[in-house]
Amino acid sequence: MANVSLKNINKVYANGVQAVYDFNLEIRDKEFIVLVGPSGCGKSTTLRMIAGLEEITSGDLYIDGERMNEVPAKDRGIAMVFQSYALYPQMTVYDNMAFGLKLRKLSKMEIRQRIENVAKILGLESLLNRKPKALSGGQRQRVALGRAIVRDAKVFLFDEPLSNLDAKLRVQMRTEIARIHKNIGATSVYVTHDQIEAMTMASRIVVMKDGYIQQIGTPEEIYDHPANVFVGSFIGTPSMGFLKGTVLDDGTFETEHHEYRFKIAEDHFEILKEKDALNRPLLMGIRPENIHYCPSSEDYTLESSISFCEMLGHQTNVYFKVEETQLACVLDTRIAFAENQQVQWLFDLKRLHYFDLETEKNLIES
Ligand code: ADP
Repeated sequence: MANVSLKNINKVYANGVQAVYDFNLEIRDKEFIVLVGPSGCGKSTTLRMIAGLEEITSGDLYIDGERMNEVPAKDRGIAMVFQSYALYPQMTVYDNMAFGLKLRKLSKMEIRQRIENVAKILGLESLLNRKPKALSGGQRQRVALGRAIVRDAKVFLFDEPLSNLDAKLRVQMRTEIARIHKNIGATSVYVTHDQIEAMTMASRIVVMKDGYIQQIGTPEEIYDHPANVFVGSFIGTPSMGFLKGTVLDDGTFETEHHEYRFKIAEDHFEILKEKDALNRPLLMGIRPENIHYCPSSEDYTLESSISFCEMLGHQTNVYFKVEETQLACVLDTRIAFAENQQVQWLFDLKRLHYFDLETEKNLIES
């Protein structure tokens, strides 16, 4: 059992930089929380405050109801996995994993049992006598994970643990960490700037920007109901596209320079009307997969010219221009469009998002 509670946490570094503002989060037992956001948004600082490696300037941190602010890192019941594996080069894999347990004066027998168990889960059995330099990057990361797991910690903290690995290995380790979490079910907090890791691993995602939480939710909630323009554009590749325009009294969306007009979904219109958002500029957001190529049909949303295409093998990203904005569309076919070719597109009107131009908040969800 381990619940972690962060209440009104702020962090101001000695040089006056405020890295985290009023951070509030209740982490439930066995949850896998992913903190995601661009570099410098305060993810690592938050993680390091939970670990006890960084002082909390104000606010309260509780683990299982016990206030932790002044408790030293080693007494918090936490295991941390870093990006740089931080393995002892002169020790074997076995000794690296045993090190912390010896310090805690566990019996030789208990240490051996724990390491053998974890080695089995992680597929490290045949590597226990090797030294780190004789391991691949992925194997080293697995040892670092194993060392955290044998400690039987209440809470696991991960600081970008996969960012040193090549793309293929990252995908493998991602699946592996998710599987291990399922098996051992420990409460985990995982920091990454990689939105795909966040989407695939998290029970809940915390999206951060400039030290502030932007949104907390399950991957589905974050993806389908982004709280603001930042969350909408940060999560998803190719990124959500945004069109400036106005929703008019007759239920149509008109682009900024009046070149395009189309009817929007009725329930969106009703909400926007209620929110007093008609007849003034706003931002419409659309994800690439909600745009469909719609040849020879009367029933399209708009017609526009192709800018360029990216053929990825399993899909083609097609970019086209609507007034000054570039929108992306993802097609699962290999249609070769010519540059400047006029193409008709059909939008999933029910999947469109509408954001306030000034606050950038989602007008439909808020
Ligand atoms: P992230 O993990 O999201 O990349 P960090 O938590 O590392 O972000 O950093 C958040 C902000 O705090 C950044 O502006 C960074 O420059 C600043 N920062 C991080 N560590 C220190 C430090 N030891 N002293 C002063 N400022 C720091």
